[in-house]
Amino acid sequence: MNYLGIDIGGTNIVIGIVSAENEIIYSNSFKTNTFLTAKDCANTIFKDLKENTKHTIAGIGIGAPSVNSFTQNIENPPNLIWGDIIPLTEIFESTFNLKTTLINDASAAAIGEWKFGGAKGLENFALITLGTGVGIGLVLNGKIYNGANGLGGEFGHICIDRNNGRECNCGGHGCLESYIGKEGILKTAKQKIEFSSGSSKLHDFIPSEIKSKDIFKFARKEDPVAVDIVDSISRDLGYAISMLANSLDLKQIFLFGGLAKEGNFIKKRTLKAMKPYLMPNIKENISLQISELNEQNPAILGAAYLAKNGDS
Ligand SMILES: [Zn+2]
Repeated sequence: MNYLGIDIGGTNIVIGIVSAENEIIYSNSFKTNTFLTAKDCANTIFKDLKENTKHTIAGIGIGAPSVNSFTQNIENPPNLIWGDIIPLTEIFESTFNLKTTLINDASAAAIGEWKFGGAKGLENFALITLGTGVGIGLVLNGKIYNGANGLGGEFGHICIDRNNGRECNCGGHGCLESYIGKEGILKTAKQKIEFSSGSSKLHDFIPSEIKSKDIFKFARKEDPVAVDIVDSISRDLGYAISMLANSLDLKQIFLFGGLAKEGNFIKKRTLKAMKPYLMPNIKENISLQISELNEQNPAILGAAYLAKNGDS
């Protein structure tokens, strides 16, 4: 039987029908902000499958941000405009008349990495998702970790600047996401470009049109302002990961998402930034890797796997 995996992000929604052989046999994507409500989203996906594919599905798995895996609702999402409490599972079940399972998007990606990617067979690891938002999927003692309230995964909202922290979409201050989420990176870039006196290719851009990949492109060519921005991202990410690694004694950490597409360039800098904060034993053993499924979509595979097999 085929299962539908859906990855709901702050910018894009990607869907994929996953076959019994765990291959994505149909996929499509939509801009998140074209849907005013979750019901709009469910209806459009339903119509898309009806019109564009003959494959049938036996169930649905959805990875989304700000999920409460116990209540199966999305709760107070900073990066979605569909309301405060969104009963997403109920909405998809009534639209499709199929059993639907909702999980934090980073946990869905972690399941994908665990079953089909670089984390095969591991009992303990973390996968950090780097996109519009920043999240984490944790597998601890061979199980996905959902937390006491079913809200686990909000790595982007740990505070990395207690003193002069930026305001975050969640209402807090100094959150990691407000520095290394999509908007945060561009805010840092604007500040650094504005206050830099030296020459930089980034001065040629209209500030609102700069993209993260431009910054990395010029950083690879040693443009000083671009390098400064990338170093700032790596320092914040590395510091946040070090707290996680020290607390949980994690050995394997995977990076996934837009920033992870920068491969070794971001990985090496982040690892270097982590090391001063790591406990000696942790430092020796730590391994930071780019997701093996970064060019595919582990969240789709993970969500479909969950729909098919249940938790872990
Ligand atoms: Zn926050």
